[in-house]
Amino acid sequence: MKVQVLYDKNSVAKNLYVGWGISFLIDGEIMFDTGESGRRLSGNIKKLKADIEKIKMVVISHDHWDHTGGLWWLLKRKEGLKVYACPGFSQEFKKKVIKLKAVLVEADGFTEIAKDIFITGEIAGEYKGKYIGEQALVIKKDGKLNIITGCSHPGIIKIINKVKENFPDIKINRVFGGFHLLNKKIEEIKLIAEKFKELGIENAGPTHCSGEDAEVIFKELYKTNFISIKVGLMLDI
Ligand SMILES: [Zn+2]
Ligand SMILES: [Zn+2]
Repeated sequence: MKVQVLYDKNSVAKNLYVGWGISFLIDGEIMFDTGESGRRLSGNIKKLKADIEKIKMVVISHDHWDHTGGLWWLLKRKEGLKVYACPGFSQEFKKKVIKLKAVLVEADGFTEIAKDIFITGEIAGEYKGKYIGEQALVIKKDGKLNIITGCSHPGIIKIINKVKENFPDIKINRVFGGFHLLNKKIEEIKLIAEKFKELGIENAGPTHCSGEDAEVIFKELYKTNFISIKVGLMLDI
């Protein structure tokens, strides 16, 4: 399985667009999040030669602008796309998806959306004192799990534990995406990174809202098993 990075704050080449938010394309068919800007997302799709016609569905981690920004461009460009949202997303988001003639799916809990590809369903989180529901994507490959996260507002460990509840006996190969550790103290980040090791996570790729401190700490701990997420990277899962 291939996971292509379409949106991130870093890129492998200067001609690719960078920005706030993330977007990953799984096997050319499933998009996870859409970054903050449709213009940059479409630019990267073009430059990376991803085929928009092949995209079948979009999973949105949570209803924040830096994850939904490119969605409106994509839905205008391609009618009838399946959009996996959480029931707790805003009415404004849901109405906009339906208005653009996409198929809105509000998954009720852990769901297999394609062979060996799952969404966790809505996990309760908090952002600036307000409730925010968020889901993560899980890929099962070669008897191991790979978890992709948006912002991890519910907490990265809470998300991983939710996945483990559903697959108690399956090892976790990779966890990458936003870990939301931007405002955490160094000591707290270190504990989380150590918890990753305790949970047996083999490779880690913090990016986006994980923060620079977290990237340094995870890199020190994971060494060659640190995944440096950048636009243009093609992960072979
Ligand atoms: Zn974010
Ligand atoms: Zn967010």
